[in-house]
Amino acid sequence: MHQKKLEDTYRHKGLRKKLMEEIAAKGIRDRRVLGAMNTVPRHYFFDSSFLEFAYADKPFPIGSGQTISQPYTVAFQTELLGLEAGMKVLEVGTGSGYQAAILAELGCKVFTIERQRLLYDRTREFLPRLGYAAIKTFYGDGYKGLPAFAPFDGIIVTAGAPYVPDELLQQLKPGAALVIPVGEEIQEMKRIIRVSDKEFREESHGNFRFVPLLKSKAKDE
Ligand code: SAH
Repeated sequence: MHQKKLEDTYRHKGLRKKLMEEIAAKGIRDRRVLGAMNTVPRHYFFDSSFLEFAYADKPFPIGSGQTISQPYTVAFQTELLGLEAGMKVLEVGTGSGYQAAILAELGCKVFTIERQRLLYDRTREFLPRLGYAAIKTFYGDGYKGLPAFAPFDGIIVTAGAPYVPDELLQQLKPGAALVIPVGEEIQEMKRIIRVSDKEFREESHGNFRFVPLLKSKAKDE
């Protein structure tokens, strides 16, 4: 799937610019987030037979029963993280690798975990091909985070979590935020800021729909 020729034509660039205008109109204000998303060719993360879907503001299946998040959702979660260049960020749910690429474009040091072997193998090979060799990919259980690399300046969960894993809260630096959709069928987007060592402040930012955050590594591949 990823051995296709990577071509970012004027047409793709034009469609991407229009998509940025669309998500800006839906309320995304952070120019850096829009800039990063305007830079990364989202169609590279799609199978070549589905290229026409890459620049619609919609989620899309990426195989293994998973989806690449809707562009608006990627922008919204990224904006909530409030990241600066040089910051260390953890993503739970690598999926296609698109969100990780956006975080890397913002100048962050990106760590990302995926529980499905096939998706992990794919992004580990594919992200360096796109120039994102600095993104560190891990095969593991995102509920546990990455204690060996903690603390982080931000943590983003890109699957619907039934509850907020305490392990992730404990891996935040003071002042850093965990952005996580919480709920079963429909999720509420939570931003939980570690105000101090023991104190957390929780905010709600509307409803979204994600594939579920599942327990432990997938056993079926
Ligand atoms: N961020 C992705 C979208 C991911 S969809 C992108 O930009 O394409 C959610 C992903 O979370 C899926 O790939 C799923 O396999 C993964 N996932 C679900 N539960 C997980 C867990 N406990 N640990 C790590 N990854 C998990």
